[in-house]
Amino acid sequence: LHYQPQLCLADGALQGLEALVRWRHPERGLVGPDEFITFSESRGLITPIGRWVMPQACRQLKEWQDQGLAMVPVAINLSALEFRQRDVAAEIAAVLRDTGLAPQYLEIELTESVLMHNASQGLATLHALKALGVGISIDDFGTGYSSLSYLKRYPIDKLKIDRSFVMDTPGSSEDVAIVTAIIQMGRSLQLLTVAEGVETEEEWKGVGICGFDLVQGYYIARPLRREDAFAWALRNAGHI
Ligand code: C2E
Ligand code: CA
Ligand code: CA
Repeated sequence: LHYQPQLCLADGALQGLEALVRWRHPERGLVGPDEFITFSESRGLITPIGRWVMPQACRQLKEWQDQGLAMVPVAINLSALEFRQRDVAAEIAAVLRDTGLAPQYLEIELTESVLMHNASQGLATLHALKALGVGISIDDFGTGYSSLSYLKRYPIDKLKIDRSFVMDTPGSSEDVAIVTAIIQMGRSLQLLTVAEGVETEEEWKGVGICGFDLVQGYYIARPLRREDAFAWALRNAGHI
């Protein structure tokens, strides 16, 4: 697992770490999830991967917290298939119990398609997660069939606005208009907004002007190996 920091845009304070899985291949080296998640889903391998990721990330964060890391959550990505096939809420409750991580330090990232395709079961699962105290983020927001109705129906905490909007933000008045509207809507619904994939100083300034709450991207830090992530967090949080 690699971890990418998420910062508060206003003061640069560390606000969370996203766990991103990699496959250490004997010949090809580190292989990114885009190359194996879809395949894993089609071969029924996503469940074992998810069952490895979840406790790993929770245990890691708990260990870091015990070693003095700022009390911030770790975010875990769940694919639509995992969300549908597994009793996610019960599994997460068990992992939290086993690892001793307090539920408010776990966030689940889901894409819009999860909510679109599992309406009633999805709603029940999200409410069960909420009841546990776990945070819920919508990933890649704006790229799928963004249905505004689910924003009021589902207990969501964060909207992660896709990099495709962030990338064009400084140059495109349409993107600025859309992003600003999403941020304002988020604020009225008490959702935090996250700018994903900020790579350059220009983009960093652009997302600042738009009024995002939180920011993530190569400009701040790439996803880091666990040793590096902990060192980075101790060194940099609050000093960006
Ligand atoms: P995602 O959840 O949207 O994660 C963000 C992706 O953008 C990551 O790619 C991250 O490395 C990359 N990224 C971060 N900052 C920047 C930036 O400034 N510029 C650019 N161009 N990219 C940036 P990664 O690690 O290859 O992950 C790809 C996708 O694989 C993730 O997209 C997520 O959907 C999925 N994934 C990752 N880990 C897991 C996992 O444990 N379980 C499941 N089910 N899916 C996972
Ligand atoms: Ca994500
Ligand atoms: Ca994303």
